[in-house]
Amino acid sequence: MDCLFCKIIAGAIPSKKIYEDDNILVFHDIQPLAAVHALIIPKKHIASMNEVESNDWGLIGDIHRVAQLIARDLGIAESGYRLVNNCGKEGGQVVYHIHYHLLGGEQLEPLKS
Ligand code: IMP
Repeated sequence: MDCLFCKIIAGAIPSKKIYEDDNILVFHDIQPLAAVHALIIPKKHIASMNEVESNDWGLIGDIHRVAQLIARDLGIAESGYRLVNNCGKEGGQVVYHIHYHLLGGEQLEPLKS
């Protein structure tokens, strides 16, 4: 297993877990870019948005459902938050196991100023 996030899912690398179900894991980012910075990942290894297949869209939708839930639980739903997927080199993806960043808890900068 050569995937960092698969190792986190397996418990081989520790994480600060926020939420877990049969298909999804949520944990705190190790280098937070905001007061709240969680990573939402499917347990199924999908390298990036480019590798999502037709039968995976339910899972991707479920990630959004969990993002809404976690935002509420972490108390950032009303103030607002950002849900980000980086895809590929120019998208800034570093870990090739698809993940969504849930960022909030403070005023975020515009994507482009
Ligand atoms: P990417 O740039 O969209 O691929 O984001 C990868 C994210 O994974 C970065 O925000 C990293 O800080 C985060 N990260 C890398 N290693 C770990 C870890 O061991 N635990 C939690 N987050 C990690």
